[in-house]
Amino acid sequence: MLLSTPPASEAAKKNLDLLLVHHGLFWPGLQPVTGVLHRQLKLALENDIALYSAHLPLDLHPEVGNNAQLVKSLGLKRTTPFFEEKGQLIGLKARASLSGQELVGKLEESLGKKVRAFNFGPKKSNTVGIITGAAGSEIYRVAEEKIDTFITGEAPHWAAVAAEELSMNLILGGHYATETFGVKALARHLSRKFRLPFEFIDCPTGL
Ligand SMILES: [Zn+2]
Repeated sequence: MLLSTPPASEAAKKNLDLLLVHHGLFWPGLQPVTGVLHRQLKLALENDIALYSAHLPLDLHPEVGNNAQLVKSLGLKRTTPFFEEKGQLIGLKARASLSGQELVGKLEESLGKKVRAFNFGPKKSNTVGIITGAAGSEIYRVAEEKIDTFITGEAPHWAAVAAEELSMNLILGGHYATETFGVKALARHLSRKFRLPFEFIDCPTGL
């Protein structure tokens, strides 16, 4: 989830005090507080809603991070961090021998939705690489890590062609679906620690 009008309005309606979001305000740098951003902040400020967003830290966190949580729900063991982004390794890779069908089945169960698979790699995976979100455009860099089966959220059109050129399996689980694990896990952790209730506001984007 990111800060946008629907979750902010929902939080206001439900009298919530804190919104935990994944995509925050500062990815494109500081922006003038006008238009849509003004509306979103006004909603939060007027309704006394605190906002906490953790983008890359929540992608790579070893326990509550999106990648760690997705890997856990897939039952993959002994993972190694890989794929550097802004000086940190954000993805996880693991040795696993799974057929495309097994992997798609597990992923669909974890995400609760259909996924898209482009099977141009080995029938059974050797090394599975996972980067939640929009990492499909990094397929060439991922291939350099000897990954034959790459799971990410979304990809540009040309990445499907690249998967064939590179003889890789590319599986797309959806940007939103692969990146809701982190906020839920972080909220569960905080809820236990501070004995506070929490709820997940689902605002799927369809992508
Ligand atoms: Zn993302």
